[in-house]
Amino acid sequence: MKDRIHNFNAGPAALPLPVLEEIKDSFLNFNHSGMSITEISHRSKWFEDVLNDAVERTRRLLKLNDQYQVLFLQGGASLQFCMIPLNFLSDGRSADYVNTGTWSTNAIKEARIQNKPIKVPASSEDRNFCYIPQNIPFNKDAAYVHITSNNTIKGTQWASLPNTGKVPMVIDMSSDIMSGPVDMDNIGMIYAGAQKNIGPAGACMVIIRKDLLDLVPDNIPTMLKYKTFAEKNSMYNTPPCFAIYTIQLVLKWLEETIGGLEKMDARNRKKAGTLYQFMDNSGFYKATADKGSRSLMNVTFRLPSEDLEKAFIAEAAQNDLGGLKGHRSVGGCRASLYNATGIDVVNDLVSFMKDFQNRS
Ligand SMILES: *Cc1c(COP(=O)(O)O)cnc(C)c1O
Repeated sequence: MKDRIHNFNAGPAALPLPVLEEIKDSFLNFNHSGMSITEISHRSKWFEDVLNDAVERTRRLLKLNDQYQVLFLQGGASLQFCMIPLNFLSDGRSADYVNTGTWSTNAIKEARIQNKPIKVPASSEDRNFCYIPQNIPFNKDAAYVHITSNNTIKGTQWASLPNTGKVPMVIDMSSDIMSGPVDMDNIGMIYAGAQKNIGPAGACMVIIRKDLLDLVPDNIPTMLKYKTFAEKNSMYNTPPCFAIYTIQLVLKWLEETIGGLEKMDARNRKKAGTLYQFMDNSGFYKATADKGSRSLMNVTFRLPSEDLEKAFIAEAAQNDLGGLKGHRSVGGCRASLYNATGIDVVNDLVSFMKDFQNRS
């Protein structure tokens, strides 16, 4: 069997090797239960400990105060696009959505399907979403401001969160959650599909400020209601047990091996900085996002021609550098450098890129 490759996939994506090894080692007999984690009851003490530990580690890593609750839902980040307006805009109020790419566009679409009177005070669509808008004229009476903190497909990221005044932010952090510390000052809710940076597909982490739960109407379906999950510690029905277990192990690795989010942030800056700097000086590879809006997680770039891009991606794969093809909607190349990707992996990529350039 082939050994493990350097995995630059955008999601599902690379997970820390020690986490995968721990899963393997404890798979047949979880915590002396005589059962696999996929076979035990979600109501058992064994699973309850896993869930509560994942919640507590999230609270510590992000320094959450008592106002916040940590939930795990199913349906991915995409179901949140529907649930957010359904739960928070029942009284006819409006919300602001900043459009910074494919996922923001989908979030806007799901609010409009429900005839919610949302507004889009800023968009970067005019230049194919290669930048993050600045000086946005937010509406003071909005119920919330929705942003996508990292645009997985377009390779842009908010360098700092916008000032939305008294209006709480609701943030899709699917592809940069736990990549660094977050100033929670004006955040009403964070959500993230786990499969980019904190675990496998199947669970969506939701961090919600309790006052937002007061906006939730009674007459919406039980499974689409944040209160349902908040009141039952994510256990109204069977939660995605295996995904939550893996998330718990990733969070343990972040706390105990990496040493927290400041340390993770420094590593991520070094990794992305190495790759961008190499490309900027290469005269061959060209990063697609504007400087100042560049993502630390998803580095999108072009080569001088599409033929060269095809050859680059194919040869990279032969050299065990996988997942470098850009999203099908934009083409080009993309290297996703999530938390689990080490600086050694980035250095190997840069070596290959140098070599490829020299031969082209
Ligand atoms: C991948 C992604 C999504 C969609 O996530 P699903 O869990 O597949 O629904 C939404 N937002 C962002 C920023 C993403 O990267």
